[in-house]
Amino acid sequence: MAKYFDVIIVGAGPAGSLAALKLARGGANVCLLERGKYPGAKNMFGGLLHNTPVLNEILPDFHERAPLERHVYRKSISFMTPRAAVALDFENETFDKPPFNGYTVFRPAFDMWLAEEAVKAGALLSCECTAEDLIKKDGRIAGVTVKGREGEIRGNIVIAADGVLSFLAKKAGLRQDFKAENMGVGIKLLLGFPEETINERFHLVRDQGADISFLGAMGDMRGGGFLYTNRESISIGLVTHLDSLKASGKAPYEVLNDFLEHPSVKKLVKGGTPLEYSAHLIPEGGYKAIPNLFTGGLMLAGDAAGLCYTNGLNLEGINLAMTSGALAGETAIDALKAGDYSAKILSSYKKKLDESFVMKDMKTFKNAAAMMHLERLFRTYPRILANIMERVYKTDGVPRSKLLRLARKEALKEAGLKGLISDGFKIGRSLL
Ligand SMILES: Cc1cc2nc3c(=O)[nH]c(=O)nc-3n(C[C@H](O)[C@H](O)[C@H](O)COP(=O)(O)OP(=O)(O)OC[C@H]3O[C@@H](n4cnc5c(N)ncnc54)[C@H](O)[C@@H]3O)c2cc1C
Repeated sequence: MAKYFDVIIVGAGPAGSLAALKLARGGANVCLLERGKYPGAKNMFGGLLHNTPVLNEILPDFHERAPLERHVYRKSISFMTPRAAVALDFENETFDKPPFNGYTVFRPAFDMWLAEEAVKAGALLSCECTAEDLIKKDGRIAGVTVKGREGEIRGNIVIAADGVLSFLAKKAGLRQDFKAENMGVGIKLLLGFPEETINERFHLVRDQGADISFLGAMGDMRGGGFLYTNRESISIGLVTHLDSLKASGKAPYEVLNDFLEHPSVKKLVKGGTPLEYSAHLIPEGGYKAIPNLFTGGLMLAGDAAGLCYTNGLNLEGINLAMTSGALAGETAIDALKAGDYSAKILSSYKKKLDESFVMKDMKTFKNAAAMMHLERLFRTYPRILANIMERVYKTDGVPRSKLLRLARKEALKEAGLKGLISDGFKIGRSLL
């Protein structure tokens, strides 16, 4: 016999668990389905949990109770050529005082903790339970069929928080097939170190953490590198477009090995003990690739809704996932009170998202997805910067130029006037 819930949430990642927590606290009979052995078992990301208003509001003491590694104090971006690197390093005392700007975390520990908070509030968590299909009744979604637990689970509303490849969104007709150009792939290695080595190597004290991005780190491929310090390990890896990885003809681990061999990366990872290697997809199509977010009886949240973006400086997903999950939960509570699960009532989810930072940020950087396809961003511009710095510092008897003249000469030599104008326009539209 089919079980019945007010709301069924598919996926116990950050989006799903926040939705479950919000609903359980609102008194709903809610079921959270997770295909992994436990929440987070199959999940990975770079490592930065951005400080999110929704987390502070719903779990104000998460700073003390959540399994957090370090608070991010140092932010750096390094522009690389095969033999040089130009770095911009940012430290700010305000990032060293609560409320902290962000934390490094491990997904298995963090996701499990978040799901347990939902369970404490009254949600039913069912692991090793994969939703396979949607059940439709009277023209709307009315439940899911599951593998791992026999039969059907029925409910008034389904929230699909099943991640980047959300096949529930596809089954509901809310999204088209994916295009490889809208999909990023992340490759990550976790390396163990003694805590003191990390503090010394990255100039940190106490539980300060570092977040370093690398641009131009991948030869002919479009993409960049990341490094986050945990308490006794570092998370290091790369994010590239799926089509760019395919065109390179290389396996993900080969691309990562090349990156780790770069002279300025090699010294950061020296002596580390490999603990874990993983790869995962990232929705990188930005605002223009967001699918329809709801239909009768169903809402999409987090990566399933394409709510993740990168603008070359930040990669944000987990904070957007948690906020959208909470807003989907809030909308479901209103629908349950009204006894109406139609597309019309669920459309307020889209309105709530539009009013939140989630959709505002997605819109602000709506052109960034196209900018991230500019080949010159990853090869030519880091080279221009490195060439300029080399000429500024090199003492070889060649007469010096003033900085602006030097920059103009290098930029014209490497990118050409037409290239500079066209890229300047695209980068300006994306970031300025
Ligand atoms: C390499 C990499 C680096 C990243 N770095 C960062 C970063 O530093 N900071 C940041 O903010 N974001 C980062 N992101 C993005 C971030 O990880 C995602 O945006 C975020 O995890 C989305 O959360 P979610 O809950 O929507 O989906 P997920 O975290 O993917 O969770 C989906 C859950 O659904 C479960 N599931 C899937 N299908 C089913 C099914 N049919 N039945 C039951 N369960 C199912 C999965 O097992 C999983 O637990 C990164 C991503 C990658 C890949």
